[in-house]
Amino acid sequence: MKTLDTTHLSSAQPTDLWTNGKTRPVQVQNITFGGPEFTVIAGPCSIESSEQFLTTAQAVKSSGAVMLRGGVWKLRTSSKTFQGLGPEAFAFIKEVLKQTEMMLVSEITDPRQIEILDDYVEMYQVGSRNMHNYALLKELGQTRKPVMLKRGFSAFVDEWLKAAEYITVGGNEGVILCERGIRTFETATRNTLDLNAVVYAKANTHFPVIVDPSHAVGVRKLVPQLAWAAAAAGADGIIVEVHPRPEEALSDGQQALTVSDFKMMMQRLEAILTAVGRPLHKLEK
Ligand code: PEP
Ligand code: MN
Repeated sequence: MKTLDTTHLSSAQPTDLWTNGKTRPVQVQNITFGGPEFTVIAGPCSIESSEQFLTTAQAVKSSGAVMLRGGVWKLRTSSKTFQGLGPEAFAFIKEVLKQTEMMLVSEITDPRQIEILDDYVEMYQVGSRNMHNYALLKELGQTRKPVMLKRGFSAFVDEWLKAAEYITVGGNEGVILCERGIRTFETATRNTLDLNAVVYAKANTHFPVIVDPSHAVGVRKLVPQLAWAAAAAGADGIIVEVHPRPEEALSDGQQALTVSDFKMMMQRLEAILTAVGRPLHKLEK
């Protein structure tokens, strides 16, 4: 384990916790991760239908999200639960992206999906269960699209950072780390958000670091507080699950924010960011 490098903090004001001179911003077209602004990704856990995806996309955009999330292939604990629409979703994804003028990040679960997914996403998501899938990481290292690398739920920070290197050694420097909660002895909530890992990765690597409060806590009512905590701690952004009717969601409904929850969360998020002197990344009007 490396020792903690705190040199950048010695003269730091609270306002430069994220501009520590280390983070190298990653561009996803016109969206910057790890720059002076805080970046919000939102959308459903799974893309379920054209109506559900479009409604969610329009709602999160109007409340300030700059990029969309949405799973096409889902890695579920049980093989009997919804596995994602798969290629069926490709029939309408482009139309939703065009109508909303947004870009998509979606999870890749198998290296063979690169060819098809590349047409629809501007950033690949590597899920927690695949952080150790070195064959997948190596393939993504050969692409030139950014990769959001989620931390394995039982992975040491050191293993997470080494996983990122599997992508960068291939020549793809566009890695964004995502802390999404880890397994601890605590079972009251789905996982435990490790903000230590966020501040550690910010202090010791050049990767932008974002937080997924939805999977970290797994309880709708508690998601906003953790999103705000992530912003206050100096994360570069968040990725949040939103569903127009969470009770009908085919995956992760219990942690999906409603459209109005998301709006409320964004309003206070902006106030918190203002308090710590960081602007919210907004789309050009
Ligand atoms: C997801 O983003 O919906 C997901 C499955 O996340 P994770 O890989 O963090 O469990
Ligand atoms: Mn999910």
